[in-house]
Amino acid sequence: MAESRNYDIIIVGGGPAGLACGQYSARAGRKTVILEEMAPGGQCMIIDEIENYPGLEKISGFELASKFEQQATGFGCEIAYATVNAINRLDDGTFSLDTSDGTFLAPVVVIATGAKHRNLEVPGEKELIGHGVSYCATCDGPFFRNKKILVCGGGDSACQESMYLRKLSDDVTVTHRRDRFRAQASIVKAMTDAGIKTKMNTTVQSINGENGKVKSVTFLYKDTGETYTEDFDGVFIFVGNIPQTSLVPDSVKDEGGFIKTDARMMTSIPGLYAVGDVRDTVFRQIVTAAADGAIAAHYASEYIDERMGQAY
Ligand code: NAP
Repeated sequence: MAESRNYDIIIVGGGPAGLACGQYSARAGRKTVILEEMAPGGQCMIIDEIENYPGLEKISGFELASKFEQQATGFGCEIAYATVNAINRLDDGTFSLDTSDGTFLAPVVVIATGAKHRNLEVPGEKELIGHGVSYCATCDGPFFRNKKILVCGGGDSACQESMYLRKLSDDVTVTHRRDRFRAQASIVKAMTDAGIKTKMNTTVQSINGENGKVKSVTFLYKDTGETYTEDFDGVFIFVGNIPQTSLVPDSVKDEGGFIKTDARMMTSIPGLYAVGDVRDTVFRQIVTAAADGAIAAHYASEYIDERMGQAY
């Protein structure tokens, strides 16, 4: 049987929050590992262009994630490719992580598992994924060059990703269920300046296929109660995210499922921290995720010192 591996800090998830945490923790001399199921970078990897990360005027999500990773590993943070199945807290306060690559032990665990896209939950959506329905503009946008594209959602993602799609097609429409966008005003302005059409106060009723691919979308206009069907080739859905928190008990989550922490990023369970999009924060940006990671690493390091002072 494989032996358990011991660390000071185990970070679950390698997006910007986890990588920043790994960088700060390793730089502080803590033996640190990030457990990641796939490639590090998280949702950052699918962003075409980032223009609001301080100090970097314009950079692709892929490039920024690579820089985060290089900096973390450069300070000695390890990255292990493993799926975490369960996290158990032993009687002495040490966490034991059961993973697809054996057992990992540490006095501190930082949850940085991020969030996954939410589905629109309308007829036709599931059946047409990969056949005109997509949740990633940079991955699938090029299949819809010069085609008619619909983007669903009213947040930063919908508005920003529609601008990437606009580079590929001059026929892009964003539809939102309310009469006002949730996205930051600067992003909404850039979107409308780019000539993207909008359909407000409108809900998608169904995505309709023909010959196994998207053919049209049926809308309900909330003002008039009328329904209307229009042809589209591609439907990109950005209606928010669901935090990935199945590894932690409900007692540390809020009613929305996000993990509650104090200002030091620690949950109510000593030694268990949460950073980035899984956390019950109010503003989710790459820069705030990175800041969460730095704060958690700093105070987790202090927590380890305190434990050692108590004969850990
Ligand atoms: P979000 O801010 O949660 O917005 C989700 C949007 O989808 C909202 O407009 C919401 O409508 C709509 N929606 C939710 N469920 C729906 C449903 N069932 N049917 C129709 N519409 C639905 O999600 P996000 O845009 O993915 O952004 C996630 C986080 O990342 C945010 O904190 C955001 O600020 C951040 N982000 C930042 C940037 C940037 O700064 N450049 C870029 C991307 C994302 P309502 O408005 O009516 O609730």
